Amino acid sequence: MQIAKDKVVSIHYTLKNDAGSMIDSSESAEPLIYLHGAQNIIPGLERALEGKVADDALEVSIEAVDAYGEYNKELTQVVPGNMFEGVDTLETGMEFQAETEQGVQVIRIVSVDGDDITIDGNHPLAGERLHFDVNVAEVRDATEDELSHGHVHGDDCCH
Ligand code: ZN
Repeated sequence: MQIAKDKVVSIHYTLKNDAGSMIDSSESAEPLIYLHGAQNIIPGLERALEGKVADDALEVSIEAVDAYGEYNKELTQVVPGNMFEGVDTLETGMEFQAETEQGVQVIRIVSVDGDDITIDGNHPLAGERLHFDVNVAEVRDATEDELSHGHVHGDDCCH
């Protein structure tokens, strides 16, 4: 069975950045399972997997624009500490969810200088060219429920 829209695909993958450092890997964990054609994974990887079958292996490099987007400097800003109600100590690396015009966004603190808190709403991998090593483990038809929800129903599903 070939990977196409509305197929449920299981892959094992290793993800490295341009410098060759490992960012993420499914090798010692469960495979990543996603619904193809439903924008569950980054567009560049979804395109590369189109038409592949179980046991296929591929290496693919994906430009930032087809991965987590270009880095957008306008998503960084300096805010006062009192923006973070109920948080005792603000530290670099902390993440918060913020309501924005584009929906819920994850905001990271990138530096703390007294009461000047610099936050960044970019995805941590924004601006990065990504290199995937992928093995296709399984391809199956999606169920009607999965298609209507737009995601896979597995053991660790949302409901
Ligand atoms: Zn669902």
